[in-house]
Amino acid sequence: MKEIILLKDGEIVLKGLNRRSFEDVLKKNIKFAIKGTGRYEVTSAQSTIYVRPMSGDCDLDEAFERAKRVFGVVALCKAAVCEEKTMDSVLATAPVYLEKQLKAVKTFKVEAKRSDKQFPLKSPEICRELGGKILEAFPHLKVDVRNPDLIVYVEIRDFGAYIHSNPEKGAGGIPVGTGGRAAILISGGIDSPVAAYMMAKRGIRLTAIHFASPPYTSRRAEEKVVKLLQKVSKYSGSMTMYTVPFTKLQEKIKNDCPEELFTIIMRRLMMQISEKIANDNDCQALITGESLGQVASQTIGALGCTDDATNMLVFRPLIGMDKQEIIDISYKIDTYETSIEPYEDCCTVFTPKHPRTRPVLKYVKEAQENAGFDELVTEALSDLKVTKISANDD
Ligand code: ATP
Ligand code: MG
Repeated sequence: MKEIILLKDGEIVLKGLNRRSFEDVLKKNIKFAIKGTGRYEVTSAQSTIYVRPMSGDCDLDEAFERAKRVFGVVALCKAAVCEEKTMDSVLATAPVYLEKQLKAVKTFKVEAKRSDKQFPLKSPEICRELGGKILEAFPHLKVDVRNPDLIVYVEIRDFGAYIHSNPEKGAGGIPVGTGGRAAILISGGIDSPVAAYMMAKRGIRLTAIHFASPPYTSRRAEEKVVKLLQKVSKYSGSMTMYTVPFTKLQEKIKNDCPEELFTIIMRRLMMQISEKIANDNDCQALITGESLGQVASQTIGALGCTDDATNMLVFRPLIGMDKQEIIDISYKIDTYETSIEPYEDCCTVFTPKHPRTRPVLKYVKEAQENAGFDELVTEALSDLKVTKISANDD
């Protein structure tokens, strides 16, 4: 039996005139996500994207799992393609295709959608006929129109007739690439991968920036970040990661700045360096995993001092979230277990015993200027390491 994947467009349905271009991006993202699982034709009509296998070796189950992580889709299902667009073919296909599911439940109902108005039967008639046929084939079943265990969907569309059961929830959001580009400051922690995922969900294409301070931070710590980004890229698509050599800058902070300002000055330098990398990569914003009040460097005053270091728009999608809410998302996107691997981040190198929770911007800036970081910033920017991250690499 021929099977296809049907994906229902999400918010892009609301985009009016831009809808076509949104749909084109979505189709491209779906094609990219299922790459390597076989050859397909991907088309769209009536707010639905059709993924049709074009070769015998397609792994439709794997393609389906990957499509579940594509933003811009509200719901998706695998569906049987009826051999002909006739009621006889519908009656022959449904009980066979859904046999396992129908055997496993007690109640069902049929729902028919008929967007092809040429089809000789109207929706209620389709439901009645197929309902009767299913009751005949599975005598243990009862029809329950209010609260059925299983809904059998019949879709009579321009291209053909399709049968499927309850669709699954899609990833939601809007297609990656329709919302511009931004740079995620990624550490090995729990928060920044979640922040990356959340902004990708709003259509942002990502570039990643990671600050490493060898030998204080190890190669394993950097590999952990790559692993995290690979997991994020299953949702966001491929990206480029820039690793910034941060050791000399951190050593200078330690030697030439007041201890209670170490962290805040480090955060400001991260923003300044990231802004430059972001500009060079056509990014319109920075993204961080900061959450208000989570640590000393994330009080309202500290965030103000950090924010002052850049003119670029900064997205902080976790700002109002509790740690547990962030952890819940990290489980969902499968980054949690990697995030808690115990490799040190540069943020934990030289942490002051008593960081300023209410830093005064004027003094922070003065301390930073007195130390003078410009040369080291230029040096760090000239020595970036570039790593390509691809969703299908892990
Ligand atoms: P995370 O769990 O994302 O590490 P956190 O709660 O540990 O966040 P901080 O360590 O203060 O908080 O970092 C705040 C944010 O700064 C991070 O979410 C991330 O966006 C950025 N950041 C921290 N360390 C690095 C790093 N080594 N490279 C790039 N960005 C970083
Ligand atoms: Mg951290």
